[in-house]
Amino acid sequence: MYYFEVTIIMTINIKAINDVFYHIKDKAWRFTPDGDSRGYIQPKLLKDLWFHTGTACNLNCPFCFEGSSPGNDRLQMVTLSDIQPFFKEAVSLGVSHFSFTGGETFVNGDMIKILDCALDINPCLVLTNATDPLAEKFEEIEKLKDKKHKLSFRVSLDYPYETLHDKGRGEGNFRLSLKMMSELNKLGFKVSVARKQKAGEDKQAEDSLFLPVLKEAGLPEDTNIVSFPELYTPGSLPEVPQITEACMTTYKTEEERAQFMCSYSKMVVKIDGKMLVYACTLVDDDPDYTLGDNLTDAMRARVMLRHHRCFSCFASGTSCSE
Ligand code: SF4
Repeated sequence: MYYFEVTIIMTINIKAINDVFYHIKDKAWRFTPDGDSRGYIQPKLLKDLWFHTGTACNLNCPFCFEGSSPGNDRLQMVTLSDIQPFFKEAVSLGVSHFSFTGGETFVNGDMIKILDCALDINPCLVLTNATDPLAEKFEEIEKLKDKKHKLSFRVSLDYPYETLHDKGRGEGNFRLSLKMMSELNKLGFKVSVARKQKAGEDKQAEDSLFLPVLKEAGLPEDTNIVSFPELYTPGSLPEVPQITEACMTTYKTEEERAQFMCSYSKMVVKIDGKMLVYACTLVDDDPDYTLGDNLTDAMRARVMLRHHRCFSCFASGTSCSE
């Protein structure tokens, strides 16, 4: 290797090290109100790409952290043609999994077509309340079991108790969700559960309360149960501690920092007719977390932990991915 080649390579490497990309330039993005450097995540490899299918839902749960309800279009419904370019770009970046959230994903009229296409590329996870919209599309869903890649479902069961669950989600929906979980399981789809998390809970003890419910649905005892703390409705501004850079290096190892969703995933949404990329699934109510209209730029952007939901990731390890 010649001297000038070494010089060029060294220059490129030094530039890469110094080339931290902040998509927002103002000081409040990078520093806490006390002037400390904010904690951040520098994204690594894109592994899991999420798509928000839209905030329209058949249910109207008062606690929904997406603020979803019938006809809601805070985040618009995506079509297959909206998201196909992102499939292609994500593959070029090495993605190995696709996930879909809503709203209720099966309210989206393109959902079956979207999954049919996505399952030719990667394994997929779909979040659903497993009520009427899923029941109505069940025959079409059944056909997806023979696709090249596996499809799995995560069903929202807030509590292991019918009365409590139906109080938020509407009468009859606990039993309907259990029935649909059972039907999906019989077809060979993997099913997991999303539940509410109590503050300071013993996770194992709380998960074990679901065992009779899993048994009733014919699901295995070791079914994955993902729990979510109080995340508040969109636009809420609960007071939480600031996360500084020192917090992230003192209390988290490099391996733990890599487990934050914004390190290995991004979420694609549609707002006002435009397709945008958000830092993760949890911050789509704050436009500062819009990282652009393509995944390549989004993966370069340093994500500052300023949103109140970032504190849930820091304190409870909250994650939508499995
Ligand atoms: S909510 Fe969590 S995953 Fe999302 S940007 Fe904040 S720290 Fe990252």
